[in-house]
Amino acid sequence: MVLIFEKEVFKSMINDCKVKKPLEACGVIVGKCSGDKRMALRIYEATNILRSPIKYEIDPETLLRAFKESEEGGLKVLGFYHSHICREATPSPMDKEKACYKGYIYVIVSLDKDGVKAYVWDGESFEEEPIIVKS
Ligand SMILES: [Zn+2]
Repeated sequence: MVLIFEKEVFKSMINDCKVKKPLEACGVIVGKCSGDKRMALRIYEATNILRSPIKYEIDPETLLRAFKESEEGGLKVLGFYHSHICREATPSPMDKEKACYKGYIYVIVSLDKDGVKAYVWDGESFEEEPIIVKS
């Protein structure tokens, strides 16, 4: 599959990561699926309740609100994003340890290294998925 971002959605995700630096930013990605496309239509910026530069946890209220509102609005939670500070956009051992949403997208934003990458958690490992940003 391929993950397609609306340009403004992508920009606000990057901006959130910049603003939260030096802490890891995190949030929820909501949209819809059609054929082999996942379309990211909005994000929920969340508080990293760990307040850490090397790990994150999405605050539970935002997580709950994203699931509830997307369902009410006929959309779905596609997955989550978080930033890596001074590290590549590769899942860390802790990212693997904490991954629990099978079939969901985990986007990692590396502000200083290699950009933005998306992975799907298949229950055992992360499989990279291509990203397209609409122009
Ligand atoms: Zn990470």
